[in-house]
Amino acid sequence: MLGPVILAASRSDRMRRLISAAPVTKQVVDRFIPGEDVDDIVPVVRDLAGNGLELTMDVVGEDITSPAQAAAARDAYLELVDRLKPLELGTRAEMSVKLSMFGQALEDGHELALKNVRPVVEAAAEIGTTVTLDAEDHTTLDSMFAIHEELRKDFPQTGCVIQAYLFRTEADARRLAESGSRVRLVKGAYKEPASVAYQDKHEIDRAYVRILRTLMDGKGYPMIGSHDPRLIAIGQELAHQARRELDEYEFQMLYGIRTDEHLRLAAEGHRMRVYTAYGTDWYGYFMRRLAEKPANLRFFARSMLTKG
Ligand SMILES: Cc1cc2nc3c(=O)[nH]c(=O)nc-3n(C[C@H](O)[C@H](O)[C@H](O)COP(=O)(O)OP(=O)(O)OC[C@H]3O[C@@H](n4cnc5c(N)ncnc54)[C@H](O)[C@@H]3O)c2cc1C
Repeated sequence: MLGPVILAASRSDRMRRLISAAPVTKQVVDRFIPGEDVDDIVPVVRDLAGNGLELTMDVVGEDITSPAQAAAARDAYLELVDRLKPLELGTRAEMSVKLSMFGQALEDGHELALKNVRPVVEAAAEIGTTVTLDAEDHTTLDSMFAIHEELRKDFPQTGCVIQAYLFRTEADARRLAESGSRVRLVKGAYKEPASVAYQDKHEIDRAYVRILRTLMDGKGYPMIGSHDPRLIAIGQELAHQARRELDEYEFQMLYGIRTDEHLRLAAEGHRMRVYTAYGTDWYGYFMRRLAEKPANLRFFARSMLTKG
């Protein structure tokens, strides 16, 4: 029951100000977001890559309010690409972007987001890597899929994310599997109404398995974005049934969550990519992590009470 309340708070400016200013927040945030700028993140990239892990990097931020902020987001990713170049990691270090941060919700937002994201995709391709478009709330997805399709004309490795909780996703998965796209499948992290999304955890899990089977049986490259041990085991079984080699799909998890499992899967020879977020505008990302696991919220609340 707590999850939806926290997700509602994640859109509140008043809560944003309160939580961002609380003295203990930073310590809890650090578990999920290991740095505020690109200088903090380069050592993290080296460290994860040195442990046989791959990365997708997210400069946190969303719900921006001006084209200047959207351009600043583009520039932050371009700086990241510059800093990745000498590491020569190729596709082992890719980027995840939220189109809202590139201006998607502003006036003429679809064109603006496409205009801002394209140079990032081009720069990534120049250093031999790729970009994946994150999935945000359901109202943004038609635009996200159209931008994904447009970018794939020149950069076919551009990936996108689909969310198992949405009714529409089985059809999206069939289309993307047929077109041979890279696709990350996640359960979904936003507060969505019953008119568009499953609300029951078991129904979401069952949809996840159906969709993953479609992706595994298709022509694309499935990316299993989940920490759920059952879904990870089912993912391995479905890949086996589809006769996929170990480099024909991958697992993805978030930085700071089930870290031992990252290393275990990598040691078994799987491609294991860690979604690593950094930056100062971490509020929305952090609140979604609290909403996913009530124990995180209890820990956070206890820290506020004892140290705040
Ligand atoms: C690589 C990656 C990228 C993602 N990108 C998107 C995206 O673009 N759009 C989107 O809507 N969602 C995205 N998500 C979030 C996703 O939708 C889920 O909210 C999140 O992954 C939790 O679901 P789960 O599959 O891990 O299963 P759950 O059933 O939520 O979790 C399974 C187990 O994992 C552990 N766990 C999960 N979450 C947490 C947490 N926050 N803190 C501590 N332990 C936890 C717990 O042990 C839990 O029991 C992404 C997730 C991953 C892993």
